[in-house]
This record gives sequence, structure tokens and C-alpha cells, in this order.
Amino acid sequence: MTPFARLADLALPPRCPGCGEITQHDHRFCTRCWSSLRFLGPPWCALCHAPFEYDRGEGAACGECMANPPVHSGVRAAVAYGEVARAVALKLKYSGRLACAETMAGAMARLMPEGADLLVPVPLHRWRIWRRGFNQAALIAKSLSKMHDVPVDAELLRRVKATPVLRGLGHNGRAKAVAGAFALRGDAESLRGKTIVLVDDVHTSGATANACTRVLKRGGAEKVVLLCWARVLGDAPLD
Ligand SMILES: [Zn+2]
Ligand SMILES: [Zn+2]
Repeated sequence: MTPFARLADLALPPRCPGCGEITQHDHRFCTRCWSSLRFLGPPWCALCHAPFEYDRGEGAACGECMANPPVHSGVRAAVAYGEVARAVALKLKYSGRLACAETMAGAMARLMPEGADLLVPVPLHRWRIWRRGFNQAALIAKSLSKMHDVPVDAELLRRVKATPVLRGLGHNGRAKAVAGAFALRGDAESLRGKTIVLVDDVHTSGATANACTRVLKRGGAEKVVLLCWARVLGDAPLD
């Protein structure tokens, strides 16, 4: 953000991050947006953390994980993807305003895994960064880092291959599309024994998370947990 934009930001009244209505405080949703957000948490699948309607007992996994167990240690999402969650994500993606990243990070903070050693944003391909000017996941990771005092390395993981839109592809098709798409920075130190928190804005399928996890584990990471703002559940439409 330019100094001018920052100043303009200060002069404006706080607005709901969902609908833009004027609110009392920064980062607060209006009542309507707040009540339409579905906050996620346990009971959830022991492997991917997809929420369960009821507690199925310790260690219970969802059908998807029984068919294809993830290589990561779960996806922790603040909210289910829906109209308001989408509005906030788009606002950050197209404005790069740190306030939006802070709103998301604030909602994600309660799900920070125990013993987190390092925050690593899911990388964008450099062409996309070049066009957009920033990686929204890195902005969220930086906000989280301030809240939790866990260091962030936004350059550790790189997207070395541009990937197609994964929507509409099956499990194997998605895995194939992201194979070889990620790599560690050449001079990266060993991640041996570390718990890495992979940060993203919207989680759609496990393919990207699994591909990133494989690369981080090859670099020595012991555990990789995904922490994101919103998760697409079931057949929720995505656009
Ligand atoms: Zn609102
Ligand atoms: Zn699962």
C-alpha cells in the first residue's frame, strides 16, 4: 500500500469487510454478514479436518480421506466458503489492502496449530505476482506472524510451473496438474523436525496442499498443517 492509500484509509470510517456497510470498529463484520458466516472447528475429520455434523469419535475420517488419505496433517479453515467469505477474499486479492488480510488472519488465529515453527504462504507463480503485485496468502501469513509471533518465510516455497484451473478435474487429474509445480528456494535450510503451517486464502481441493506438503517434507519438515481463511465444502459453487 502506498503512503497515500494508507492515509486515505485512516481518514475513512471503518467498513464491514463483507458488504462495505459502515461499522463501529475496524475488522468487524456487520450483524448480517457476521451471522451468515459459518465458523468451522471440531468435530472434524481426523485427517483433513472437514467438519462433521456430529462427533463420530476419535480418529474418525471422512469418506474422501478413507479413499485418498492426505499427506498433510489437516486443513484448518476459519469459515466455510460462501457469499461473505468470497467477498472478503476477492477484496484482498484485487485490492491488496492489508486490512483485509488482518481481518482474515484475526479469524484464523484461533486455529493456529500447537508447536508451529514457521508460516509459509502457498506461492503464486511469478507471472501472477508480477501482474497482481503481491501474493494474498503472503499478506495473510504476515498478519498471522504478528499475532502469533511465529516467523514467516514468504520465499521458501516457489511455484515453478504455472498450473491450470483445477476446478472440474478429478482427484487424479488435479494431482497430475500440480505435480512438479512447487520447489524449495535453492538455498533453503533444512526443515528437519519442523511443524510448518502452510497459509492460503481459499482452500478448494487437497491437490495443491498435498503437492506443497510433499516438497516441504522432502526438505525435512515433520508435519505440515494448512491454515486458511475459507474452505469450499461439498459442492458449494466456486467462481
Ligand atoms: Zn456486512
Ligand atoms: Zn477427511
